[in-house]
Amino acid sequence: MRDDEQEDRVTRRGFLGAAPSGLAAAGLLSTTAIGGQESAAKPNDPVTNNQSLDAENPDAIHPPATDAGGLPPFKYPYSLGEKFVLDGGWVREVTVREMAIAKTISSAQIRLSAGAIRELHWHSVSEWSFMLYGNTRITCIDSDGKSFVTDLKQGELWYFPAGMPHSLQGLGPDGSEFMLAFDDGNFSERETALLSEWMIHTPRDVIAKNFGLSDQVLQKMPTKPLVIFPSEVPGPLKDDQQAAAGVRGRSPVDYAFRTFEQPPTKSNKGGEVRIVDSKNFPVATRIAAAIVTVHPGGMRELHWHPNADEWQFFISGKGRQTVFATAGRARTMDFETGDVGYVPLGAPHYVENTGSADLRFLELFRSNLYQDVSLNEWLANTPPAVVAANLGIDKASLEKLPKVKPVFMPE
Ligand code: MN
Ligand code: MN
Repeated sequence: MRDDEQEDRVTRRGFLGAAPSGLAAAGLLSTTAIGGQESAAKPNDPVTNNQSLDAENPDAIHPPATDAGGLPPFKYPYSLGEKFVLDGGWVREVTVREMAIAKTISSAQIRLSAGAIRELHWHSVSEWSFMLYGNTRITCIDSDGKSFVTDLKQGELWYFPAGMPHSLQGLGPDGSEFMLAFDDGNFSERETALLSEWMIHTPRDVIAKNFGLSDQVLQKMPTKPLVIFPSEVPGPLKDDQQAAAGVRGRSPVDYAFRTFEQPPTKSNKGGEVRIVDSKNFPVATRIAAAIVTVHPGGMRELHWHPNADEWQFFISGKGRQTVFATAGRARTMDFETGDVGYVPLGAPHYVENTGSADLRFLELFRSNLYQDVSLNEWLANTPPAVVAANLGIDKASLEKLPKVKPVFMPE
C-alpha cells in the first residue's frame, strides 16, 4: 500500500463517525466528527512509539469506533518467534507460551537447506504441515509398518498421525521451508521423541542385542541429539520408495495432499478457498484446514465456526479482522506475512483484504471436519419477518442478500 493510501485509510477508519466521548469530554478534541463527515481534529500522540510497528497496525492506532471492551490480543508475529539455529536449518515456533489464547494448536516454522534432514522422530500430537517454499522429501510408516515416501513442493501439505515416526529432508535446488501445526497449543517442537536421543539414553549393550549387532559397529552412533543436521541431497524418489518398501510393500495410506491439483472448493470475485479435511484427505482426522485467498477489495464474509477454535497463518498480503466476543467486547487487528491469528470457537469474525495484492492465509481447526456458519446464509434461511424485526432492514432489501453462503464478498 502507498503511504498516502495508508494515511487515508487510517484517517477515515479512525475518525469517521463518533469520536470517543471520553476524549471529547476531556477537551482533547477540538472538534468532533458529525454526520459521517471527516473530523479536522486528530487526538495526536506527542510521544512516538515504535513507528514501524505502528505503521503495521493501523487498527491499533485508530481502532474502529465499534471496537470495545478488553479482548486479549489474537495475533503473534513469527518475526518475534524464538529461533533455534542448527547446522542445516532452523526452527521457530509459536505456541501457547507465546500466544496465550492459542490453546488448541501450536506451530513451528522450519527451514531445511538442500540435503539437510529433520531427524527420524515422533511425538504425542498429530502433525499437519504446509509447504511454504522449495521441495521436501517426507518419510513415515503406517500402523502396519508399511512405508510411505514422497516429495512435496510449495503449496502442498502432509499429515502424520500422533505417535507415527517420520523424517523430513530438504531437496534441491535450495531445500525447503514449511509451517508445521500440532493439535495441542502446549506442544513444542523441542519436545519430540528423537531417535538420536533415545539411543543416547539406552544402554549400548541393549542396542547391540536389539539389532543383533556387535558393539563394534555402534561406535559411530551420535553422542548428542541431532534434531536437524546437514546431509547429501537424496537420489531419485522411486529409488527411496523401493528401498523403504522392504519386504512389507508400500503403505496404501496417503499422508500427502496435492493442494493445487484439486479445483477450489469455492471461487468468486472476492476470493477462493480450498477445504482440506478428512472428507478429501482421510488421514487428517485431527486437523481440518481451509487454504484461503482473498482478492484485493474482497472480504471473507462475516461468519463463525461452531466446532473448533480457528488458528491462522498469514502467508502473504495484508488484511484485518474484527473478532466479536460477546459481553460487548470486540477488537480489530491487522495481519500480514508471517502473522499467526487465533479466533475462539463460536466467535464471529471477518477477514478483509486491506492491501493491493492477494491476501493468502491458512485456517486450521482441531477437528476432522471444516465447519462454518455464514451470517448471510443463516439470515437467508430464517423467516424474513423475524430477520426484518431483528435487524430493522426491510424485506425487499433482505431479498438481495446472498441465499447460499458466499464465503467471500463481493460474489
Ligand atoms: Mn514431527
Ligand atoms: Mn473463520
